Formats: sequence, structure tokens, C-alpha cells
Amino acid sequence: MRAPPITIRCDCGATRQVPYGERWPCESCGKQWNTAQIPADEYHGILREMRRFRLSAIGFAVVIAVLFVATAVFVSESLFLLLPAVLTGWYIFYMPLWRRKVRRRARSLPTWQLHPE
Ligand SMILES: [Zn+2]
Repeated sequence: MRAPPITIRCDCGATRQVPYGERWPCESCGKQWNTAQIPADEYHGILREMRRFRLSAIGFAVVIAVLFVATAVFVSESLFLLLPAVLTGWYIFYMPLWRRKVRRRARSLPTWQLHPE
């Protein structure tokens, strides 16, 4: 999984997405910003949380798939014909909920005060 970049907002108003651990010399005012000033455990804590979000979506999909296949095998194989409907329901009902949850969390992510070097 790719690590999410950090958005740096320079004092002069310029913004840039920088990968964690990299420096960014602001083009317009020349200040050097260093994302390595962010405590590694805080950043990795956020990565872990994002991974948990992703795993919860995958886990939910696996549970639904297993239940569906088990039902189809033990009850009636014609239930497999419903698979497209189940997948559609998944996309229409679960994914928006999941995306909203991720977005809500992303909005409340911490900000750090970096110091130009
Ligand atoms: Zn600047």
C-alpha cells in the first residue's frame, strides 16, 4: 500500500503534497520544509488506521461472499443468478457508507506545525 502524502502549506500560501520523510523547497519563497519533523509513530499510527479501514471493507466483503456461496451451495445453486444483484447492492449501499466513514476520518486527521529549515 502506498503511503499517503503529506500536504504542506507554506507560509507564503503555496501547497504541495510531499511523501513522508522528504523535503520540499518552496518554489516561490525558497523555504525548506522537511516532513521528517513529523513524529514517525504518529504518522505510522495514521497509516495503521487507514489499513484497518481498508481491511474492514475487505473483511465485510469476504463475510458476505462466504455467506452467499454457502447459502447458494446448501440451499439452491440458482441463487448464484442473484450474484450480480448482490454485488450491485454492495456497491450501492455499503461502499458509500464506507467511503463516508473514511472521508470523515480523513477530515479530522491531525495537522503538524513544521518549521522551515
Ligand atoms: Zn513558500
